[in-house]
Amino acid sequence: MKFIFAVPETFDDQKRGLLIEQASYVAPNIESVAIEGEELIITIQEGCQLEESLIKSQFEAILNKINDCMSIPVRTMKTNVSSSQPQESSLSRDHSSVDPRAYQLLDDMFLDIARKHQAVERRYPTLLQEEVMHTCGYHTNFPQNVYAVSEIPHQFNILESAHEHMDSAFRKADYYLQPCICYHVYQELSGQQVSGLHLYTAEGRCFRHEAKWRLNAFRRNEFSMREIVMIGTAAQITETRQRIIDDVWELFVKLGLQGTVQTANDPFFTADGLDKLAFQLLSSAKYELIAQCGTISSAISSFNHSGDMIVRKFGITGMDGEPVQSGCVGFGIDRWIQALAHRHGDDIRHWPMVLQGHIHS
Ligand SMILES: [Zn+2]
Repeated sequence: MKFIFAVPETFDDQKRGLLIEQASYVAPNIESVAIEGEELIITIQEGCQLEESLIKSQFEAILNKINDCMSIPVRTMKTNVSSSQPQESSLSRDHSSVDPRAYQLLDDMFLDIARKHQAVERRYPTLLQEEVMHTCGYHTNFPQNVYAVSEIPHQFNILESAHEHMDSAFRKADYYLQPCICYHVYQELSGQQVSGLHLYTAEGRCFRHEAKWRLNAFRRNEFSMREIVMIGTAAQITETRQRIIDDVWELFVKLGLQGTVQTANDPFFTADGLDKLAFQLLSSAKYELIAQCGTISSAISSFNHSGDMIVRKFGITGMDGEPVQSGCVGFGIDRWIQALAHRHGDDIRHWPMVLQGHIHS
């Protein structure tokens, strides 16, 4: 079943990208969303009972929302991709047969960068407490991505008969699956006063509800990430973030990868989401390292300056109660592996020397 809508002529690439992103959520059984020429085509699974008028009205609401926002040019900080270079064929498969040691090899390099900047090392649970989710507000900013945990109450009669009505026996638990690592750091420092610059690092498994049709080798609903969280003055965050970007870029180039560091935005879903997006782009609050793999490109690291937005929510201040700021750097470990396997093949023995030096076989 296909729905075809006209894309306004005034929409540039940025707005067309936003349109695909937002139109992905007009119905849960979408098989694909694509723009061909001046038409947006939404393909929905056959046999789904969907009101055409509902799809139309949602699409119009999305159009109005995007129409109102201004396009902001993306700023490139670093690149080693030449536009004249012919791109090889696109990423055709999931490199799932890569030696699992690749994972540790890469994480060790990210940890080296964190240690160089004196980050304190942590290990946190995968489950995020409900109160932390409520404090950070991730679930209201990104409801499309959140996963909550269910449980069966510890009540004798319900447990005893649970096998007869498994689905209705479940209730929402006080936990969410963590969408990223950094909220645990803010929780640990919640209500505390800090002096000077503080860095923390932790790695873990993260979970995000993604539209099924968008899942691929890079976009997964379960992935591993290392984060480095920075807390300090605005200037300290900006400076440290820049030094880490330089370190990560050096590693990226050494590994023979091609890509770009550029300004980026998060897919906010709230009514004021496009304002937040514009703020991110204008203020360079977020940079992403985009790896170019054939005709596919994917963000494999992000570098965020969150201002006082998150620390304020967690009541973290300076020693005299003065405001502090924060930021975080994320490494999508599985995505780095995909990019390396795409570039050098699945056999990690053929990966660049910088990695080989770390293999102990
Ligand atoms: Zn983070």
